Amino acid sequence: MTAGTVPLLASVQRFLGRQHGLYINGGWRPSTSSQTLTVFNPANGQPIAVTPDASAEDVDQAVQSAHRAFVSGVWARRAPAERERILLRYADLLEQHGEELAQLETLEQGKSINIARAFEVGSTLNWMRYTAGLTTKICGRTLDVSIPVPEGARYTAYTRKEPVGVVAGIVPWNFPLMIGMWKVMPALAAGCSIVIKPSEITPLTLMRMAELATEAGIPDGVFNLITGSGSVCGSALTSHPRVAKISFTGSTATGKHIARSAVDRLTRLSLELGGKNPAIVLADADPQQVIEGLMMGSFLNQGQVCAASSRIYVEAPLFDRLAADFEQAIKGLSVGPGLDPSAQINALASGAHQQSVQAYLADAREQGAQIISGASAPDANGYYVSPSLILNPDDNLRLTRSEVFGPVLSLTRVADVEEALARANDSDYGLTASLWTTSLKSAMDLTPRIEAGTVWVNSHTLIDANMPFGGFKQSGTGRDFGVDWLDAFTETKSVCIRH
Ligand code: NAP
Ligand code: MG
Repeated sequence: MTAGTVPLLASVQRFLGRQHGLYINGGWRPSTSSQTLTVFNPANGQPIAVTPDASAEDVDQAVQSAHRAFVSGVWARRAPAERERILLRYADLLEQHGEELAQLETLEQGKSINIARAFEVGSTLNWMRYTAGLTTKICGRTLDVSIPVPEGARYTAYTRKEPVGVVAGIVPWNFPLMIGMWKVMPALAAGCSIVIKPSEITPLTLMRMAELATEAGIPDGVFNLITGSGSVCGSALTSHPRVAKISFTGSTATGKHIARSAVDRLTRLSLELGGKNPAIVLADADPQQVIEGLMMGSFLNQGQVCAASSRIYVEAPLFDRLAADFEQAIKGLSVGPGLDPSAQINALASGAHQQSVQAYLADAREQGAQIISGASAPDANGYYVSPSLILNPDDNLRLTRSEVFGPVLSLTRVADVEEALARANDSDYGLTASLWTTSLKSAMDLTPRIEAGTVWVNSHTLIDANMPFGGFKQSGTGRDFGVDWLDAFTETKSVCIRH
């Protein structure tokens, strides 16, 4: 521990010291495989835990446990108000263990303890309570039908929303606890069972949440968690015949791979994938608001945010001013371990990811791009990348087209709004975007022309449980959040009664 870092709770140290297993049918059990995976602390590269690397046989046991629980009706047929009460209790348990979970998240993921407290715990609580509330709002419709035969017969029809069955939840490593709960909560609110697979590099907080699920009163087998690699454990889970629905958040490449295998059984599928999110800054924007909003939008969680702003297009009159202000802001960022609350930029989640981001920067540098970097790593063994600004990169650089998912921002001068729109929309992705202007007319005229699932005006990256989120184009299919969220975890059944 370095000076200024938050002291670890005894409960965190106890958790890290345990021998970890797989959470199946309401309890921990050892894997059938002797393979293991090591979890590292990104701030210093030190190992902090070892988890099982689940085999296909383990995955089968987890899915069978979820399936047995589902067909037994122990959860799905319980009164909605009881499910809601249990899910609210589950949220209360997260709140009670909030500091423990925030510390675990910082230790395994690298992020600032401030972000772990505010987002992984604080925002997740909002989502959990919102989603718990949806449990008691599930409803279908009554339908007037015009069936003409046999003569004189009368019919009344209605629809029911029924839980789809066993859900496979696949979670990435950027917000492990929050995104994990974005799978667990709607599945359980709808009455489904779930088998969740965290990323192999950040499994710890969801492992703790598995135990808390049982403590909250979620019946055995309804919530199962397996740890393992994407290629073996993830594949076995998403292709399992008893999985009715896959809820995946991760890269576009893995999403496509999973979609191809889901087609074989027409497994229901929602995909929240990558983004290469543009911000368009018009000449009439408030420069101070732009700097504050887009520094956060670009560097929150070291840029490891699917919604992060990473390409900023600025109308010419404001460009030089903003370039100078961004440079100053980036050079002023302090870099340090996530457990130091004063450090503004922390280590990336893994050594492999650090190398990937550095390779994008090296490629851009070789192609002659102008790169301005901030402070460098405080610990050579940690997975740090200096926050960086690229001025006017070529549109065909790897860095301009791909999702870098790191603390790297590009700023590009454009002649006018038409050029900004054309370049912003010239992407395979379409997750989020933002528009910066003080003109109401520009905001209203331009938001429909931006190809993205979420468009912010004068802000970026702010999400809410009541606001649907998802991608256009190759950023995914389906929408999370909002009042219709449970639709993706239910089937619609039409019932038609002759009377
Ligand atoms: P990833 O490599 O696609 O991994 C995501 C998850 O899929 C991990 O749990 C991974 O397991 C698992 N996985 C890998 N191969 C698999 C396979 N063949 N079958 C089943 N599961 C498999 O993505 P990542 O690098 O962890 O996460 C970053 C990406 O997530 C970025 O592209 C980001 O944009 C995207 N993301 C999107 C959103 C959104 O809401 N749109 C939110 C957050 C992140 P292992 O890690 O154990 O290999
Ligand atoms: Mg992986």
